[in-house]
Amino acid sequence: MRIVVLAGGIGGARFLRGLKSAAPDADITVIGNTGDDIHLFGLKVCPDLDTVMYTLGGGINEEQGWGRADETFQVKGELAAYGVGPEWFGLGDRDFATHIVRTQMLGAGYPLSAVTEALCERWQPGVRLLPMSDDRIETHVAVDVDGERKAVHFQEYWVKMRASVDAQAVVPVGAEQAKPAPGVLEAIGSADVILFPPSNPVVSVGTILAVPGIREAIADAGVPVVGLSPIVGDAPVRGMADKVLAAVGVESTAAAVALHYGSGLLDGWLVDTVDAGAVDEVESAGVRCRAVPLMMTDLEATATMAREALALAEEVRA
Ligand code: GDP
Ligand code: CA
Repeated sequence: MRIVVLAGGIGGARFLRGLKSAAPDADITVIGNTGDDIHLFGLKVCPDLDTVMYTLGGGINEEQGWGRADETFQVKGELAAYGVGPEWFGLGDRDFATHIVRTQMLGAGYPLSAVTEALCERWQPGVRLLPMSDDRIETHVAVDVDGERKAVHFQEYWVKMRASVDAQAVVPVGAEQAKPAPGVLEAIGSADVILFPPSNPVVSVGTILAVPGIREAIADAGVPVVGLSPIVGDAPVRGMADKVLAAVGVESTAAAVALHYGSGLLDGWLVDTVDAGAVDEVESAGVRCRAVPLMMTDLEATATMAREALALAEEVRA
């Protein structure tokens, strides 16, 4: 079975670990969000791709959910001693090596997709990890600070400002001119099932869908498209997804997120059992919906979620 998954960082990566366990023989292609990418200290950092790669490759800091295990911060300290920031972005020594290799390869002319494949040679994530695009796309967030509207890089909004002010708009800068990376449309076109993990619907899955051609290819694929809600009990399980949902006029409820994707894209939707009351609303919008436990507390619970998603896919296919 060929499965395509649109993934952000933590939510996507953890779900993928469960999916691999639930479907060990499946051929899984991950289309990763690159809208969070940022240049720091002259290096190209791809937080979501790395979170997927480290999580599936066994190098992730488990408690944190991002960055490397057993990390140290000597380089960051040395940079700070030179007065060189930003200090708000935590790049560890081990992690730095990934960004150095990536930047070196990009400088030598390799596209991001080829660089990602090379990095995965080491990590062996057990999935085919593709960036959504080789073109530069950067998610910017419009905020009002001291009565003035300004746009900040998504990482600045999320990590530095901790989403402490309302997001007025979320713009994937560069998306309109971008092309899907090699292999992306082919993977969608030959998939048996397409899954949206419980990733951020706006700045992870939404950004991937903003690359021209990807949304259309998914809608036209003619195979079941099933998503899992990142919103449980009217709030994100972790992070600040409610802030960016509000910016696009979507309530932070499991049903509202399903309706935001819409029945033109989504065939099935899983909500947590605490949101069982949302099932009817989602179904009357034309999306098959089930309430099952959606907390990724451990591998087994996550694998069960993946099995439920695949079962719902078969149900809509029938
Ligand atoms: P990011 O790029 O690291 O922010 O990660 P993603 O976009 O892939 O996932 C972020 C989303 O994962 C957040 O909106 C969380 O609500 C959601 N999430 C995290 N853990 C869980 C969980 O255990 N269950 C569910 N349903 N959602 C989760
Ligand atoms: Ca992210």
